[in-house]
Amino acid sequence: MSDEENNCIKVNDVFEELCRQLSSNDQVGDISQKFSTLNTNAERVKFTGDLLEKYALYPKIIHEKKDDELSVKYRQEGNDAFKRKQDHAAWMFYSKSISFATSNSECLALAYANRSAVLYEKKMYKQCLEDITNAFKNNYPKRLHEKLIQREEKARELQSSEATDKYFERPSGLKEANREIPCASAKVEIRRTKALGRHVVAKRRIKIGEMVAVERPFVSVLLKDHLRDHCYSCLTLCYSTIPCERCVYAMFCSRTCQQQAWEQHHKYECPMLATLYAMDVSKMTLAALRIALVARKHYGELDKYNGDHGGGGGVYRSQSYGEIHALEANTHLRNSSDLFPKATAAAVVRYVADKTSPSFRTEFAGADSAIFDELLMHHQQTAATNFHEINECAEDEEGRYVNTLEIGAGAYAFLSLFNHSCSPNVVRHCHGTEIIARAIKEIPAGVELLDNYG
Ligand SMILES: [Zn+2]
Ligand SMILES: [Zn+2]
Repeated sequence: MSDEENNCIKVNDVFEELCRQLSSNDQVGDISQKFSTLNTNAERVKFTGDLLEKYALYPKIIHEKKDDELSVKYRQEGNDAFKRKQDHAAWMFYSKSISFATSNSECLALAYANRSAVLYEKKMYKQCLEDITNAFKNNYPKRLHEKLIQREEKARELQSSEATDKYFERPSGLKEANREIPCASAKVEIRRTKALGRHVVAKRRIKIGEMVAVERPFVSVLLKDHLRDHCYSCLTLCYSTIPCERCVYAMFCSRTCQQQAWEQHHKYECPMLATLYAMDVSKMTLAALRIALVARKHYGELDKYNGDHGGGGGVYRSQSYGEIHALEANTHLRNSSDLFPKATAAAVVRYVADKTSPSFRTEFAGADSAIFDELLMHHQQTAATNFHEINECAEDEEGRYVNTLEIGAGAYAFLSLFNHSCSPNVVRHCHGTEIIARAIKEIPAGVELLDNYG
C-alpha cells in the first residue's frame, strides 16, 4: 500500500468523527430525532451525506494509476525473492508488477516473462505457457526472445507431467432437483409462518450426507487480500492472472471473466476501488454496492419485487434480482445506532462513485440516483443475515471437506432462508463460489433445516 492509501481515513473513523462533531456541537439528540423520522433508505443516505458535507468529513479521493516505474520496482523485488528461492513471494511481486505495468508495455511483457519462470519452477507448465504467450503478445523485447522460447519449448515437453490441479473434483449435482427451487433438492420446500418468516422444511425424510442445495450466488466479491491470486470475477484460484487494463487491483483468470465483470459492474467500480480499499470499506458494503450496480436494469420495476417470491406459486431462482431484493432487511427492527453507521458507509460510497466514476455519473443520474442510494442501504441491511462467506475448500486426511481460507462473500437467495442454529442439521462448503449444503443429521419430514451461521 502507498502512503497515500495508508493515511486515508477509514470508513469507520468517518462515522466516529461525525459522532464526535455532533456531540461537541450538542447536536446528538436533535440529529438522532430527525434521523429516526426518515421513512426511506434513500432519505437516510441523503441526510447523512449532507452532514458529512457540512462537517467536511468526506474522504480525500485516491487515484492509484498504472505506473511503469512501480512495475519495475516490484519486478526487481520479485527477482530478489526468486534468487532467495522464495517462490511464493516472487510470484506475488511479479503479479503486482503485472498489475502496475501500462498496457502493451515492455514492462508488462517482462513481468509476465519473469512470472513464467516461477511457474516453471513450480512445475505449473500450463500457467507458465499462458504467461509466456502474454509476454510475447505485449512487446517482449527481441533481444530476449531466445531465452523465453527455450522455456516455452521445455514447458511444453514437460506439460504432460504437470502437478495435478489444486482443485479437487466437484461432487456431482442434486439427485432430484426441485421444480419450484431449481438449486434445491426435491425433498425440501419453503414455508412461511408468522413466528419464523420464510424458512426451509424437509418435505420428505433426508438422509445423513444427502445434498440439499447447490447454489451459485447472485453476486460475489473477492477480499482485498486475495486480489492477486484469485479471479476478481469468478473467484477461482489462478496463478496466471491477467490484469484489468485500467486499475491496479482487479485481475482475472480469463478474457471472458474480464469482459463479463467489465460489462456488469467493473466499468463503474474500477475507478472507485483505490479509495474504497484504502478506506477499508467492508466486504458487506462492497457486496451491497455490487448488487446496487448489477440491479440497474431492474430499477424501473422494483415495485413488483416488494412482495416476496418463494412459498408462493413462482419459481425461486438464485440468479433473479427479485429474490435478492425480497430478502429480509428487518429495517423496522433496526434503531438509529444500527442504521446511522450503515447510512454513513452508503453516503461515503455514493460520494466516491460520484467523484471518480464517469460512467456511474452518466448512468445513475436523475431518478436512478435515489434508487441507487435506496438499494445500497437496503442491501447493507440484508447482508448481515443473508450473505455467506466464500471459503476455499479442501479435503482433509480423512477425505472430509473443510473450509480452509476465507476469500470472499456472496449473496445466496435460497441458502439465506435457512434459519440459524448452534446445533444445525445442515452444513455448507464451497466449490469456487458455488455453495453445497448437505444434511449432517437425519432430517425427518416436516422438520426445519437449520444452518450454523458461525
Ligand atoms: Zn474468472
Ligand atoms: Zn479495473
